[in-house]
Amino acid sequence: SSKNAGSSGFRFYVESLSQKSREEFEIETGLRHALYRGEMFINYQPIIDSSKNRIVGAEALLRWRHSERGLIPPGRFIPVAEKKDMIAGLGEWVLENTCRQIRSWNDMGIRLDFVAVNISVKQLEDREFIEKVRRIVERTGIDPDQLEFEITESISMDNLKNRQGVLNELDKMGIRLALDDFGTGFSSLGNLKKLAVSKLKIDRSFISDINLNEHNTAIVSTIIAIARILGLSVVAEGVETREQLDFLRGESCDMIQGYFFSVPLSKSDFEKFVKLQSSPGSTDII
Ligand code: C2E
Ligand code: MG
Ligand code: MG
Ligand code: MG
Repeated sequence: SSKNAGSSGFRFYVESLSQKSREEFEIETGLRHALYRGEMFINYQPIIDSSKNRIVGAEALLRWRHSERGLIPPGRFIPVAEKKDMIAGLGEWVLENTCRQIRSWNDMGIRLDFVAVNISVKQLEDREFIEKVRRIVERTGIDPDQLEFEITESISMDNLKNRQGVLNELDKMGIRLALDDFGTGFSSLGNLKKLAVSKLKIDRSFISDINLNEHNTAIVSTIIAIARILGLSVVAEGVETREQLDFLRGESCDMIQGYFFSVPLSKSDFEKFVKLQSSPGSTDII
């Protein structure tokens, strides 16, 4: 039948692809159904104020549990979603669900200073992005103050400079902007000053061998100094050890994120983590 011919044609096509593009093709196909099949969910990683020793925020991290292949890390599917024009839809879903979560936590009495959502530069290029954000914020009834967008610095600064209009719009709405993976790109101090950014997130790669590598230690201290000079707050991500934490506290790094405190958590585990911290008689998280 024509149906069989179709499927063998399909198989021939798939077999003729290299291993890498075959995997990409499978991810692409799976992504087209993932949302309505309910395979996507969000984890929240606590972000701790290093002097107050309290959870002040969280980063929303997208998770995909594929029906056959299990958990697929964002590092594998986000690049495919970006390349195949699916990131706008996914990103909107993450934003809407994170805003609803902020709202429901507020209603439960868990009021975080901010929850950060990763935004792809492809989303910033979407003409309707600002309107979509505005609608989601209105619909969910959250204070845009509690929302933060993380944009990776590893995309070129030129690209970000071209997006200055969008960044300013977001800033006017009261949404804060953070430069993610800071130190891996090529921002000049001049550009940093011009962008409506209020926070730098030091890339995990610089934190991981703070005590082994003098250069990384110097880079981290310098990024913290730059942040202070420019009046930006600074977060260290990927903090896994007590030594790293002590070093960062010594440098007066404002906020800490990493496995040392907590891995990214499901919504209910996040709630437990917050309640544990604020229960009377509880000791500090660290
Ligand atoms: P990112 O935005 O830099 O997020 C931090 C990543 O570091 C997360 O990986 C987090 O689980 C991981 N991490 C945090 N603390 C530690 C630690 O102490 N040790 C180690 N080894 N890792 C730590 P994850 O969740 O796999 O996400 C990877 C990247 O995927 C993110 O990097 C972000 O660029 C992207 N991503 C995740 N969710 C979204 C999303 O909703 N939209 C977009 N556009 N990108 C997303
Ligand atoms: Mg991030
Ligand atoms: Mg990051
Ligand atoms: Mg990173």
